[in-house]
Amino acid sequence: MKKDIRRSLVDYGKRIEPLTSGSGGNLSARDPDTGIIWISPTGIACHDMKAGDLVGIDENAKVVSGNGRPSSETPLHLELYRKRPEIGAVVHTHSVFATTLACLHVEIPAVHYLVGLAGEKVPLAPYALFGTPELGKAVAETMARADAALMANHGLVAVGTDLGAAFNLAEQIEFVARIYYQCLAAGKPALLSCDQMRQVRRRLANYGR
Ligand code: 13P
Ligand code: ZN
Repeated sequence: MKKDIRRSLVDYGKRIEPLTSGSGGNLSARDPDTGIIWISPTGIACHDMKAGDLVGIDENAKVVSGNGRPSSETPLHLELYRKRPEIGAVVHTHSVFATTLACLHVEIPAVHYLVGLAGEKVPLAPYALFGTPELGKAVAETMARADAALMANHGLVAVGTDLGAAFNLAEQIEFVARIYYQCLAAGKPALLSCDQMRQVRRRLANYGR
């Protein structure tokens, strides 16, 4: 199991390049058998990392496997696993359009049905210094009712039951962020109503099954 999770982290790490820049962004997944959280190393671009670079940590951030140093955003990942025990993976990116909105302090309303993958909207977490427990707390509180959030003056974070779900969400929310930005630039976007979003969320719950 451990090996599969690490391979999966390396594979998704290779796919993160268009969603971030340089060594920005990080990802983690929790092994349901051992409770170990495998997280990308700090300062290494995720698309360059090897399985041996991954760091295994416990819920208190103690390194239990690996020689490298875990991502500086370990407090963010751990706070999300603490607050949302049902999730199995966290993906953090600096994708361009999500980060643009995050720097404008603009959250993403129900502008496109795919917002429903995250919740009723994609909320904005208040600014806190990267890599701090304060940032972890601010983001985890913001994500009590949403599976993705913009991080003010920073980027995007998405969670899921597994790495595939969290990564897909990060990709889809970047798409939605781009659409919203373009709509704002061109005019006044027409938003979906609460009732329409409830219908979307019910339908998305069975989508692809
Ligand atoms: P790490 O290289 O430590 O994972 O940090 C990247 C990042 O995105 C910080 O917010
Ligand atoms: Zn970051």
